[in-house]
Amino acid sequence: MSLSISQLIEITCSKCNTIFQSEVWFVVDILEQPDLVDLIVHGDINLFKCPKCNFQKNIESPLILYRPDSLPKLILSVRGTQLSGDEQELIEAIIDQLKNKMRDGWNDDWLGEMPVVEMNLLPMLLTKGFGAVQLEYMKRNFVGPMDGAPKLIFEILENLPTEEKESFVAGLSKVNNSDEFLEYLNKFPKINQVIDSEIERSILEITHKLGPLADKAAELFRSYQGTKDTNALSQAISAWADVVTHPLFGNLSSDEKAYMLNDAGVALRSRFDEFNEVEDLYQSIKLFENGVDLSTEESTVFSALFSNLGPALFERFKIGGKKDDLDRAITTLNKAVELAGSIKLENISLLINLGVCLSDRFDYFGQKDDLIASIQNYKMAEKVLPMDHVYYPAILCNLGSSLMRQVETEKEPHVLNEAISYLQRADELTPQGSSFLGEVLLNLGLGYSIRFELLELVKE
Ligand SMILES: [Zn+2]
Repeated sequence: MSLSISQLIEITCSKCNTIFQSEVWFVVDILEQPDLVDLIVHGDINLFKCPKCNFQKNIESPLILYRPDSLPKLILSVRGTQLSGDEQELIEAIIDQLKNKMRDGWNDDWLGEMPVVEMNLLPMLLTKGFGAVQLEYMKRNFVGPMDGAPKLIFEILENLPTEEKESFVAGLSKVNNSDEFLEYLNKFPKINQVIDSEIERSILEITHKLGPLADKAAELFRSYQGTKDTNALSQAISAWADVVTHPLFGNLSSDEKAYMLNDAGVALRSRFDEFNEVEDLYQSIKLFENGVDLSTEESTVFSALFSNLGPALFERFKIGGKKDDLDRAITTLNKAVELAGSIKLENISLLINLGVCLSDRFDYFGQKDDLIASIQNYKMAEKVLPMDHVYYPAILCNLGSSLMRQVETEKEPHVLNEAISYLQRADELTPQGSSFLGEVLLNLGLGYSIRFELLELVKE
């Protein structure tokens, strides 16, 4: 006898308001009613069609599966993840009905063991077993990146025969960390062995296929750096493309992936600097962004990714003029400076880039905070740079120009004097024919004339 339970209810079509009666299923006995199981598998259970306008809609009602030949015997399925008060009451009423129908066949223990499964996972449950659903939930709750060994282990478990999978997953709810998992695995020598050999196979495959490809890409890029041979650069880029699109790439750890994405991005960025093809810049930004997503603060590539992403976003801002790019360039560079800890000569370009981004944003949008922050960054860079460094005159020029912008907004004599003294030193140190000498002289001239005006005012 089927233990399925349904009820005729009155439904109002939400499109044409036609009222009609239809049968809603609350309990499905999966052995006795394969027709209903079929409907569930196709997502068509409790789907109603208006007889007048053909409008279709699922009734969002809880559904209990009764599984006489498997454990757990009862599975409660609801639309979302949380039960509403109304749903709770309805479920209690349904269970009472089922109890009455089963009489002596009923066992109260079933209720304590009844799991709640999202309705959209029912097709998986009915075709691949309850173990598959449990694995799915474990995958969703898995902490950490789903790649490398964890990804492989899940794949192996998902492909186990249903019964083996059920018995393996059944005890997993008591496993809380990777040590406990390894201990648990020892109870299943066959599965343990498959996992071991698969991980070993994957490592060998990576070492033999992906490793040499990545080495070749890195080698070609080093050759470009030494010779500036742009053919080598383009070859390096296509080798990196082969690496990051390789089917085995997904099996690498997140950290390894982040390193490779960073190196591939740097190669593309270099080609953009050579030929100004915007597509190279945009591609490099994507790679750096993917790298940032995969990487964590503990990784050494993390700060490199931020240092590369920030200036690339600024470049894109200069091309497309989107404020979002400029804002993100500034946030990213700030983060890169923060990650660098102390500013040394090697990472001085971070401060300079940040200063330029901030003073550019001030020029576009007039926020005084940006101007002040840009001046601070230039001043920090000026302290670190030795005076004979090629960047030194440019920093003095930037600093003097930013201070002059501040003078224009507030006419403070001590800021004016500071600006003029930086610009005078920039004038002395800037080689003839330098691209920014004009800017130095222009700002210096402006400084002198403002000082003259201020003196005149004092005299009056
Ligand atoms: Zn209708």
